Parts: sequence; structure tokens; C-alpha cells
Amino acid sequence: MTQQVDYDLLIIGGGINGVGIAADAAGRGLSVLLCEQHDLASSTSSSSSKLIHGGLRYLEHFEFRLVREALRERDILLAKAPHIITPLEFIMPYSPTTLRPAWLIRLGLFIYDRLAGNSRLARSKAINLHDNNYAKPLKSKFNKGFSYMDGWVDDARLVILNALAAREHGANIMPRTRFCSAQRHAKYWQVQLQNTINQQLFTVTTQCIINAAGPWVESILANTLNVHPQHSLTLVKGSHIVVPKLYDGDHAYILQHHDKRVIFVIPFQQQFSLIGTTDLPYNDDLNNVSISEPEIDYLCSIVNAYFQQSISKQDISWAYSGVRPLQAGESTDPTKISRDYTLELNHADDQAPLLSLFGGKITTYRKLAERALSVLQPFLPSMQPPWTANQTLPGGDFAQGDLQRFKQQLAQQYPWLPAQLVTRYAETYGNLASQIINNKQSINDLGQHFGQQLYQAEVDYLCKYEWAYTAADILWRRTKLGLWFSSTELSKLTDYIDSKAF
Ligand SMILES: Cc1cc2nc3c(=O)[nH]c(=O)nc-3n(C[C@H](O)[C@H](O)[C@H](O)COP(=O)(O)OP(=O)(O)OC[C@H]3O[C@@H](n4cnc5c(N)ncnc54)[C@H](O)[C@@H]3O)c2cc1C
Repeated sequence: MTQQVDYDLLIIGGGINGVGIAADAAGRGLSVLLCEQHDLASSTSSSSSKLIHGGLRYLEHFEFRLVREALRERDILLAKAPHIITPLEFIMPYSPTTLRPAWLIRLGLFIYDRLAGNSRLARSKAINLHDNNYAKPLKSKFNKGFSYMDGWVDDARLVILNALAAREHGANIMPRTRFCSAQRHAKYWQVQLQNTINQQLFTVTTQCIINAAGPWVESILANTLNVHPQHSLTLVKGSHIVVPKLYDGDHAYILQHHDKRVIFVIPFQQQFSLIGTTDLPYNDDLNNVSISEPEIDYLCSIVNAYFQQSISKQDISWAYSGVRPLQAGESTDPTKISRDYTLELNHADDQAPLLSLFGGKITTYRKLAERALSVLQPFLPSMQPPWTANQTLPGGDFAQGDLQRFKQQLAQQYPWLPAQLVTRYAETYGNLASQIINNKQSINDLGQHFGQQLYQAEVDYLCKYEWAYTAADILWRRTKLGLWFSSTELSKLTDYIDSKAF
């Protein structure tokens, strides 16, 4: 049968779960097609808090399995992509008026450390906030606190790197391609896809389908596959704001609020602080999710309760929102709904299989991919064993995963490259940066300058090799240069992309 179908596996959705499965499956020798209706990472997977974490807060909901799996994955991912995933220290300020008693926080951190096993990251500790200037930006009542480690990730780039890994292993990655409908046969699916640029429809066949459409999982099942799942989703909006940086230092703060939630203040793109998130039930348009005034007030008020510097709407440089596709459970309180995932296999009447993903986190994407493929193993017996745990993602294969040393090497190798570009290229592309700067002798060789140190060579690389198609793909997902780009610079970039037929 394998010979008669175009693909072993068709994956719907180019978020982290879809590309993670595509990379894993292609590396196991399966023929894979992934379709994404918009740009890769255009939805939830570029709108997260960007943490590779166990989720300290989930311990209060006894989510030990999830926290343990996520913490183990934390170490694996830090080694897999040392250019875009880095250790991050979290400081939790404490005062007798903050919500949880000190003993409870200590207990939570102790369990967190234990569940992490033999982690390369330092264990948690109680600290004096006056050490290392942690207290400096905070109100004077905060003198004590706790420190623990987690990871920071460039979420959108993690998606791109997995898509690159999938393509390296032969997968066909098709952004701007909508899954429209499918007919099920005994041993295969016939699938109608649509190119969303020229609207052209075309048909492919595949043995299995994986529905990794995040918040759209249920609507795909109901509207295009006529399948009634056993599980369902609760959609929960989360928003972040970005303001000029509130403090110096590489650490983040985790702030407790009296509604029992926590929010993070995270160093972002050298000059900013990223603040989030909210948790609100969402039933509106999934293609148009944005922050509301009450969410802005909520985030600002928590920051203002802890920091000396007060912030308001006027300070916001950028805001973004995403919708968590959470597996529906018993609780209606968005903060209490599990962040775990469920895989639902449907192969009614022995017909071709369909696997749908409900829930998940960026942190657990690799493990989710392994589990998804093990569920499909009986249908795809030629599948080779798991392989992703010990392989770096594209660009991450530099000596000992030492990013600082890699930056120094890059600077030595290309002495004409401005320091700011060395840092940005290293932290964005790792050693894939050579694809942009190889054979160049001076900054002029990088071609047209669009502003903010974005040069033609980088744009050409992104359009040719990383599926970028619009200025937004480049400025907000492949990079975050959109934070600085003026409207004139944007027009220049748009004109250039439009003038070229990449
Ligand atoms: C505010 C917020 C903060 C978060 N913070 C963290 C965090 O710090 N750490 C963490 O680990 N996790 C975090 N998460 C969770 C994490 O972001 C999500 O679990 C994850 O991104 C979901 O990925 P996905 O691939 O399932 O979905 P998505 O990224 O939404 O991808 C699904 C894709 O399917 C595509 N699609 C839909 N319909 C079709 C169709 N018909 N044809 C083709 N394509 C289609 C969509 O366009 C979309 O791109 C956070 C989530 C939110 C919202």
C-alpha cells in the first residue's frame, strides 16, 4: 500500500507540535507532508511566555506527571538548541503580605528540584534580594525571596528550526497551504489542500493524518473530517506586554498575585521587559486575537505592586496575545485547567488512522511527538526508533553548546561584522549564520540595508531557506526586528520582497 500513496503521514498545523512531529517522523524514515494555513508559528507557538519550564504553579494542582516530564525535557532542549534556548534565573520576591507562606514556596521548590532529577541547572535557594541587586528595582518592602532556574526559548524560531530539521530529513513543509477536506478509505486518505496565495486546490494521498491544529483541532474534526472526538478543548486567551526594560540584569521575576496566579517579568531583546500573562476564557475569532484594556490594566497593576517604577498603557512598545488550546476538564477556572496533553486515535471500522492532539506546551513538544509516533507505529511498521533526544536542532551544533564562545568565534572569523549583528546572528541562527555571511568580506557585501541592521543577505536567506514570504514573517517570527522598524523601513522591506520572486 505504501507505494500507492503520496505520503505516510500528513500533518495539519505548522505550530510547534506539528513541526516537532514532522521532524521526528521524517528522521525515522517516513515520508511526511506538513500543511500550515498561514506562516509557520503564526498562531499560539509564537505567542507564548517563551519559557522552557516545568511550571512551578502546576504543582499546586498536583500535575506531577506533567511537571516531571517538562523538567526532564528542559535539559534535553537546552542541549538541543543552545542558540535559542538558554538558562534563565527566576527571582520570586517574598514579603509576609505576598500570597503564599514561605514554607509552602520552599516545599514547592524542593519538589520542583526533585522532579527535575539530575538537572544541569542550579537548584533553587532562598536568597537575600540585596545580593546581585535583585532588590534594586523593587519596592523597599521586598528584602527576601527565592531563586530557581528554568529555560528561555525563542518560541517562533524553535518552530522554524524543527521545520528545517524536518526538511533536512526529506519532509515536505508547506506553509500557506490550508487543509480543506479529506475522504477516508480503508488504507489511505485522499486530502484536498489549498494554496492560500493563489487559491489553487490540489489533492494528495496519505496513510495517516495527524491533526496538530492547536486551537483549531476541534473545528477541523467537525467541519472537514466529520469526526466526533471523545475529548474537547477549552480555549484560554493569554496576553503579554513589552515595555522598555525595567531593570538591568539577565534574571526574570515571578510575581504572585492575590488571585493566586503568577506573572513573569522577563528580559527581552536586550532593551525590553516582557510581562505576562493573563488567563481568560476565549470564544471569539481565532485569527484575530488581541489584548484588551482590562488585561493591560491587570498586568500593569501587578508590576506596579512590586516595582518602584510604575508602568501604564503609554509605556507599551508591543503587545501580543495567543489562545491556549487546553484539554477541557472538570474545572471552568482557566488557571486550573491542566496544561497536559492527550492524543486521540480514531481509526473507526479499521479505516485509515487519524490522530488528534489536545493540549500541550512548547516545553513538551518533543516528547509529545515521540508519543504521537508510537501510537501510529502499528500503522507504519517501517518507522525507525526515536532519535530526537540527542540531536541538536539546525544551527545548534557548536562546541559544547557554549553560546558565549560561539559568539567570540563568530566575531573573530568575521571581524567586519558589527558586535550587535554578531550577537543577533548567533542568538537567532547559531552556526546557520554562515549561510548569510559566508564568502562576504565587508558589511557592504551584505547588500541593501533596510534599517536596524537588517541586510539583503539575511532577507534573501530567510525567503529562500526559511519559508519567509512577507515582511511580518521576517520582522515578527524569524526575528523580532519589528520592535524597532519604522514605517519607512517597513515599506522599503516590503517593496524589496515584492520585487523579488523568491
Ligand atoms: C499566552 C500563552 C503563554 C504560553 N506560555 C508557554 C510557555 O511559556 N511555555 C510553554 O511550554 N508553553 C506555553 N504556552 C503553550 C504553548 O504555546 C502551546 O501549547 C503551543 O504553542 C501549541 O502549539 P500547537 O502546535 O499545538 O498549536 P499552534 O501553534 O496554534 O499551531 C496550530 C497551527 O495549525 C494551523 N491550522 C489551523 N487550521 C488549519 C488548516 N485547516 N490547515 C492548515 N493549518 C491549519 C494554524 O494556523 C496554526 O499555526 C503558552 C500559550 C499561551 C497562549
